[in-house]
Amino acid sequence: MLETIISYFAEIPSSHRTMILVGGLVFFSLVESAVPLMSLDYGRWRHALVNIFFTLTTILVNFFLAFSLVMSSDWVVANGVGLLQWVDLPLAIELVIGLLLMDLLGAYAPHWVEHHVKWMWKFHLIHHTDQHVDVTSANRHHPGESVIRLAFTIAAAVIVGAPMWLVFLYQSMSVVLSQFNHSNVVLPDWLDKTLVYIICTPNMHHVHHHYRMPYSDMNYGNIFSFWDRMFGTYTEVDNSKLVYGVDTHMSAKDTKQVGQLLKIPFEQYKEHLTYEKTEFL
Ligand SMILES: [Zn+2]
Repeated sequence: MLETIISYFAEIPSSHRTMILVGGLVFFSLVESAVPLMSLDYGRWRHALVNIFFTLTTILVNFFLAFSLVMSSDWVVANGVGLLQWVDLPLAIELVIGLLLMDLLGAYAPHWVEHHVKWMWKFHLIHHTDQHVDVTSANRHHPGESVIRLAFTIAAAVIVGAPMWLVFLYQSMSVVLSQFNHSNVVLPDWLDKTLVYIICTPNMHHVHHHYRMPYSDMNYGNIFSFWDRMFGTYTEVDNSKLVYGVDTHMSAKDTKQVGQLLKIPFEQYKEHLTYEKTEFL
């Protein structure tokens, strides 16, 4: 069973990776229609168009640069570089530890860095300008951010010593979990509260999309919720009070026009508006 999964992901065709992405979009869109968290009254199709444009640019960047990830993974395995290459673990343990470390180094850490390094934030903020967070928001990434993220994923794969099957298993899980935690779905309270001990749920991640700090600088996680708890960036709020977006870019032009969104990283930096410490949700 484990061997089947591993050999599948070791050589997963790029068409299957696209199918996972599209399948996730369709699946979570259907769940959103059935049990929406926020009203669906925001022109879902029109809203989806902008996000699908940025999803396509993400796919393109990954398609053209994937070879560098494949080469890096082949190189670490061939040269015995990286944490997993230095120890001899049972396959199941290697899988769990590998996924945990890839999520920490390939998602949580770069996401934190993108929020704290000005020029990277200017690319990442395009993801945050979305004022209606739903499944299509998951891959709303400026092409520049897609390149930054791929570079971090390569660095993570080298540090972890990740074989090909782990890289692709991680990336597939990362896509689906990101779609899940961005989804505009309401889960039964008991289910959300149970799942959030292990994975990032919609309730948890949506806090990160609040338009003002400090909430936009909390709940960075993508797959596992452990990292936010461990590094003190985990918070729970009354989600009904959330306002999605980013305080410096709230105009229709800055949130809905593809041409403008592509230009934002190259414009003058706008400081976050100061937040009152009393503003607790
Ligand atoms: Zn963010």
